[in-house]
Amino acid sequence: MAGDVNPFESLQEQIDDAAAYVDVDSGVLERLKHPERVLETNLTVEMDDGSIEVFKAYRSQFNGDRGPYKGGIRYHPNVSRDEVKALSGWMVYKTAAVNVPYGGGKGGIKLDPREYSASELERITRSYATELRPIIGEDKDIPAPDVNTGQREMNWIKDTYETLENTTEPGVITGKALESGGSAGRVEATGRSVMLVAREAFDYLERGMEGASVAVQGYGNAGSVAAKLIDDLGADIVAVSDSSGAIYNENGLDARAVKQHKRETGSVTGYPEATEEFGNDDLLTLDVDLLVPAALENAIDAELAPDVSADVIVEAANGPLTPNADDVLTERDVAVFPDILANAGGVTVSYFEWVQNRQRFYWTEDRVNDELERVVVEAFDELTDVYESYDVPNFRTAMYVVAIRRVLRAAEEAGTWP
Ligand code: NAD
Repeated sequence: MAGDVNPFESLQEQIDDAAAYVDVDSGVLERLKHPERVLETNLTVEMDDGSIEVFKAYRSQFNGDRGPYKGGIRYHPNVSRDEVKALSGWMVYKTAAVNVPYGGGKGGIKLDPREYSASELERITRSYATELRPIIGEDKDIPAPDVNTGQREMNWIKDTYETLENTTEPGVITGKALESGGSAGRVEATGRSVMLVAREAFDYLERGMEGASVAVQGYGNAGSVAAKLIDDLGADIVAVSDSSGAIYNENGLDARAVKQHKRETGSVTGYPEATEEFGNDDLLTLDVDLLVPAALENAIDAELAPDVSADVIVEAANGPLTPNADDVLTERDVAVFPDILANAGGVTVSYFEWVQNRQRFYWTEDRVNDELERVVVEAFDELTDVYESYDVPNFRTAMYVVAIRRVLRAAEEAGTWP
């Protein structure tokens, strides 16, 4: 993994690449490349043994031209100011790509959650929520889950916020449990949009999905759901990996059974139906029809890119290719469908959850999935329209052109700049 590539610089390069195809003032472009503000805070929390620990935590509010800031909260030892800034910027262009009325934000706490008890994590999360309280709210900034956070953390944040504000405001956060105001279909939403983009991409490229070979890097929320739903389309999931390694079977793995195995043992390795096990990077270079990177950013760098043998890549993770890897893959005609579209199912169903919270009227899962499909297919069609009508080098740049134009229009209509 290219740990030395700064994801914030990757984001800025992606914006520059697309801005070359859009009529934008250089000063306004500079604004589009930097967050409006970043909260950096040190959470001081009592551990179970009575000792005190301090945790670095952030919330970046990148751009609010199209609506309240929106984006997840990550718990990971590699969380940094620049990573949070990059992830918040990607949210701006993701919400614009799928045309949901939000800006972009992102937060994180630098910690390895496996090292803490549930009660310690609850105190850390409530301390973070207390710091966030002045800057979040259903019309201001609406956090959601990301890596290593889920319904449990969202429920704690909602409860802390509502207690301090003496109100009920479930729309302050999304990704909640159903009983706390969550939406049907939210847990599967990111994997579902990855599946929808893979389906549309194969259709657009006139390739059959039936029997196509697929490798999925990262078997967490996004990767395992994407694998299951792509499996349902008739493709063969030949390889999957998690942080412990990769498993392979050329006749296809049963995506649901692998998930069950991971649930029981903590990892995908050791799955009895696998015919081979190998290292993580080996999965990324397998000769497959479709590769779905669904772990973390910078999984494929310029060194690895020449060895990538997949024909199509659908990015479930945020920023899994470095810009230099992108250049290599564009040169080699590998069709890469970008994160800001492919994993936008999460934020789209978060938007549906927020709409339901505000109306206090809840939808069926079928309605959620139908509306999600409509949003993703419309965005995919806009991407291919731009791809065909502008001389852009790849699908990522086409999607950024759609998104940047939308953010610029909102800024222009607000009338702040000429
Ligand atoms: P998760 O924690 O549920 O899963 C991450 C998985 O990646 C785990 O199985 C982990 O073992 C694996 N992993 C970590 N390092 C790896 C490596 N080097 N090689 C192989 N596997 C590795 O997280 P998630 O929610 O599924 O998020 C994954 C990616 O998807 C992140 O980039 C996240 O930002 C993005 N994403 C998630 C959502 C969502 O709703 N969950 C929405 C949009 C984007």
